[in-house]
Amino acid sequence: MSQWRSFATHLECSATGERFSIEEVHNLSPAGKPLLVRYDLAALRAAMPKPDLADRAPDLWRYRELLPVREEAHRLSLGEVTTPLVRMVREPGEVLIKDEGRLPTGSFKARGLCLAVTMANSFGIKRVAIPTNGNAGAAMAAYASRAGMESYCFAPEDTPEVNIREMAAQGAKVWRVNGLINDCGKIVGEGKAAMGWFDVSTLKEPYRIEGKKTMGIELAEQLGWDVPDAIFYPTGGGTGLIGMWKAFDELEQLGWIGSKRPKMIAVQSTGCAPIVRAWQNGDEHAALWENAHTVASGIRVPAAIGDFLILRAVRESNGWAEAVEDSDIEAAVVRVGREEGFLMCPEGAATYVAYRQALADGRITAADRVVLYNCATGLKYPLPPADLRLDRHQPIDYEALARA
Ligand SMILES: *Cc1c(COP(=O)(O)O)cnc(C)c1O
Repeated sequence: MSQWRSFATHLECSATGERFSIEEVHNLSPAGKPLLVRYDLAALRAAMPKPDLADRAPDLWRYRELLPVREEAHRLSLGEVTTPLVRMVREPGEVLIKDEGRLPTGSFKARGLCLAVTMANSFGIKRVAIPTNGNAGAAMAAYASRAGMESYCFAPEDTPEVNIREMAAQGAKVWRVNGLINDCGKIVGEGKAAMGWFDVSTLKEPYRIEGKKTMGIELAEQLGWDVPDAIFYPTGGGTGLIGMWKAFDELEQLGWIGSKRPKMIAVQSTGCAPIVRAWQNGDEHAALWENAHTVASGIRVPAAIGDFLILRAVRESNGWAEAVEDSDIEAAVVRVGREEGFLMCPEGAATYVAYRQALADGRITAADRVVLYNCATGLKYPLPPADLRLDRHQPIDYEALARA
């Protein structure tokens, strides 16, 4: 099937199951919960009993039947490439890094915001706003500028400088706010009446998750329509984890994969671990994490509106939630860079730390096929200093260079 066709049919409240029209603009459901896009999977299964994608470009639009965009002309694109699985060479088993740093704007936020801004634009929305730890705002700004929309970003004041400047350079109006991302979210929500902007916060509109879902479809396709044994995912708002879980369910209903599921492991920092605490306590929802702090800014999310969906996916998959120390994250960035030649972002490095801990205590073995999500390029983050200097006017002791 080569023509453009979406099999999306309606939206459904993730808490009550109530249905809503996909032809209208939506944020949260009336119950205050995320809306999920539903598809006519039976019709798609009949039309494409086996995945038939070989003649399509290697980007996320190859899964258009499972995306909400109705017309090809609506699509905003900056080249949302299929990201590689890079095998680690120093690990005992098969450990694959899904390198999302290759995407436009250098992070996997491009997947979600590409879809969200495309849909907002197709509804004629002219102004979008977002609370952001950096990468989401940058991705929103890029796609909004492409569409000729105005974009407003609100970021915690200690967001990495490069992210703030990236947003501004890609056409956003961006403010540093003396608070955390949930405080920024409040500003976006309360500014709606005065500014008439569309709120693109994580899971507060239905389409970012559909973009993030493509991580799961793409992974299954790359593994020959199979899933790995375990996925370590750096969890902030949890869109990616929820999205992948949704993807696997849709793929099974299509008959494209079987009933096997990966263990979903939600990785957080010990400085901000609301999901880990709720998982340990057996709670359905996660309480706000006070005084959140971590070098992995992408997962500094003290309260997640999709908490119950994250926890459900982790439990249904027989996975777990785990917090890692910032000092271990920083050491892992250096170790993986030196040993593997791979520069991880701190959030990606957190997944490596959690994987190593699980390997050490036997929850993961060398027989498992493991996927770690490196969700942004390591180049977006401050790096450890490297300060060696040479004076070219002095004699150089070449042998001493090896001891540096
Ligand atoms: C946003 C972000 C995360 C968290 O992703 P969610 O799907 O929202 O949980 C992790 N790492 C980086 C680099 C991010 O930008």
